[in-house]
Amino acid sequence: MVEDTFRHKGLRERMIEELRTKGITDERVLAAMNKVPRHFFVDKSFDAIAYEDRPLPILCDQTISHPHTVAFQTQLLDVQKNDKILEIGTGSGYQACVLAAMGARVLTIERHNELFQKAQQVISQMRYFIRCYHGDGYQGLPSSAPFDKILITCGAPMVPPELLKQLKTGGVMVIPVGTENCEMRRITKKNDSDYEEEAFGNFSFVPMLEKVQGKVNTLFR
Ligand code: SAH
Repeated sequence: MVEDTFRHKGLRERMIEELRTKGITDERVLAAMNKVPRHFFVDKSFDAIAYEDRPLPILCDQTISHPHTVAFQTQLLDVQKNDKILEIGTGSGYQACVLAAMGARVLTIERHNELFQKAQQVISQMRYFIRCYHGDGYQGLPSSAPFDKILITCGAPMVPPELLKQLKTGGVMVIPVGTENCEMRRITKKNDSDYEEEAFGNFSFVPMLEKVQGKVNTLFR
């Protein structure tokens, strides 16, 4: 297990201050990001820059988002203790841990088998309530629906209808819509046919792609 040294803790405090200056105001989000060691989720060669506000490469040509993007999406989600949250795009598992550190119950889907395996291994050392699934996020997790919140961490060409269905009435979805330069949207489900949509500027994301990659795991379904 990677160590969390005083140096890491100091760098993390500095990252939190930077997030404040960039407009993150939800103290619960800042506290959770101060708790979860981001350097656990990246290759050790990135250890020295793990607390800079920049995306970093993970396996399968994917990236862990900017800390500011993680904070911004989490703040929009308005996470409450015990919320049941579905995340699409587990990646490194970092965002899932930030949600769980806020007291949420997290179910997270990743399409790359290799990332799914690795994230599950890192997450299992953190003692959080997180269930990992290898699958296609476009389908969501019908057997565990409905969800209080749904968070998409890859750029979706459109809002997946299956995911809207799996949102509770009163539930909230945060989703970057577009390819590469995506518009951040927050969708609140008023009822089965009525949704409120708000937009929050542009962010860059890796694309949300269809179909799973690698050997299909059914073990954790
Ligand atoms: N939340 C992650 C960020 C990962 S980047 C973290 O904290 O590290 C986005 C991830 O979405 C990538 O790992 C990519 O493989 C995954 N992804 C893309 N399309 C997907 C889909 N249809 N279903 C599930 N995961 C998907």
